[in-house]
Parts: sequence; C-alpha cells; structure tokens
Amino acid sequence: NPGLTLSLQFVPYGDKQKLLVSRDVTRLERVHTMRRDFVANVSHELRTPLTVIGGFLETLAEEGASDPETNKWALTLMTDQTRRMQRLVEDLLTLSRLEDSENLVREDNINIPAMLRELCQEAESLSAGHHRIGLNLDTKTKLMGSMDDLRSAFSNLVSNAIRYTAEGGDITLNWEIRDGQGVFSVQDSGIGIEPEHIPRLTERFYRVDRGRSRETGGTGLGLAIVKHVLTCHQAKLEIVSEPGKGSCFSAWFPPARLIAHKASKSPP
Ligand code: ADP
Repeated sequence: NPGLTLSLQFVPYGDKQKLLVSRDVTRLERVHTMRRDFVANVSHELRTPLTVIGGFLETLAEEGASDPETNKWALTLMTDQTRRMQRLVEDLLTLSRLEDSENLVREDNINIPAMLRELCQEAESLSAGHHRIGLNLDTKTKLMGSMDDLRSAFSNLVSNAIRYTAEGGDITLNWEIRDGQGVFSVQDSGIGIEPEHIPRLTERFYRVDRGRSRETGGTGLGLAIVKHVLTCHQAKLEIVSEPGKGSCFSAWFPPARLIAHKASKSPP
C-alpha cells in the first residue's frame, strides 16, 4: 500500500537501544486527498448529465407526449448526455485496467505507418473536411507494444488536435526517428496552451477550459490515459505549445521498442 510506509530506526535508550517505528502520515494523507478528489470529480462529472436527463424526463412526462417537437428535442439531448456518461465510464475502466497492469504490455509487432494511415482516415471523417490533415512517414520502422492501447492513445492525441483547432487549421501526424528513438507526434495549428498548464495536463480531469472540453465531448481523462499507455511502453510524452499558434504532442519510444524495417529481397 503506497500510503503505508513504515520506517524502522534504532535509537539510543540509556545503555540500550530502542526500536522506533514511524509511519509517513504525510504520504498517507496525500493518498487520501487524491482518492477523495477523484471520487468528488467522478461524482461531479456524472451528476451533471444525470441532472439534465432527469430534467428532460420530467418535461416529457408533463408535456412532451403531446408535442412531437419537444419529444424529439428532449430525446436527442438525453442521448447526448447518455453518450457522455458512457465515454466517462469507458475511460475510467481503461484507466483502472492500465493502472493494474503497469508492467504487462502485449508485444505486438506494430506496423506504425499502416496504423497512422488508418488514423488519418478517421481524422478526416471526424473533422468532416473542416481541417487539413497531413501525414509524414519518415521511416518504416515498426514498434513492439500493445496495438490496441497505442492505437487508442494516438487516436486520443489526434482527436484532441481536431477538437482544439478551429476550422481551416492544419493537423499533421508524424512518425520519425530522432536521436535513435521512435517519435510519433501530432502537430496542430490550434488554440495552444499557456505554459503554466502544461505540467498538469496529464492529471485526471485537469482541463484548461472546462466549458470548451465539455462542449467538444471531452471527459478530461484522455491525456491521463495517454500518459499511462506510454509509461507502460517506457515511452515519454513531450508537449510543446504556444498559445494562439498551436501544439505538438510527441511520444518518444526507446530503441529497445523499435524493429528496423527490412527491405524485401527483390526477385533474382
Ligand atoms: P479533454 O477530454 O478535456 O480533452 P484531455 O485529458 O484529453 O481531456 O486533455 C486535457 C486538457 O488539455 C484539455 O481539456 C485541453 O484543455 C488541453 N488540450 C489537450 N490537447 C490539446 C490541444 N491539442 N490543444 C490545446 N489544448 C489541448
């Protein structure tokens, strides 16, 4: 239990020694505070959509049944709120699974260029033609790791880039080798992030602008999940951003995770 660190120390006691057992309560309190904040955050995130759904159900019970327009409007909004709760619960389950298996990573042989081509197609459909989506594949190097987890982490970074970039902006996905490491990055020309927020972005439920995150369907857990997935792969997340200009989120993978591309032999 990380909150229950006991330290043992022998101290002089007359002509003998006595054993002093102490417990690091500061750490215990920190774990308690984190747990309390987490439960408060989850409750708050669930309470808002539940209040909205409850309100619409009351409206429907009173007047909706006789008015098809009200009916339709209330059902659409309730569906949105239900989806929001589903996303939250899915993200919470993903986080808890990742925390339980910090050192257990599936060792798939991942064709990153192929994965990024698929992610680009997904990005095109998510952006619905409102952004220019680019892809730079500087290397054919593959990666050892958990295909599903990495795909969802990369997809999270791409959907954030779309959500925080105004229409007409540019989003580019890159896969390259830098200083011997495999680097996947997503560069956007979006709203950017003030420097003081950057170190806290991977905390659960941390958002620069709560309203905007909710409006665009965010759960506030995306980057916490990305950080966990990368840690499981001994990879690091780098965030470089300039307010008003855009952001670049990069995942750096150590050489031990890379599988060099072997050129196929040409027929004799
Ligand atoms: P959310 O679901 O709110 O997007 P995330 O954990 O994915 O949660 O991101 C945390 C916060 O980081 C976001 O609320 C947003 O303020 C900021 N953020 C993430 N990606 C970007 C980006 N590409 N550009 C600007 N801000 C970003």
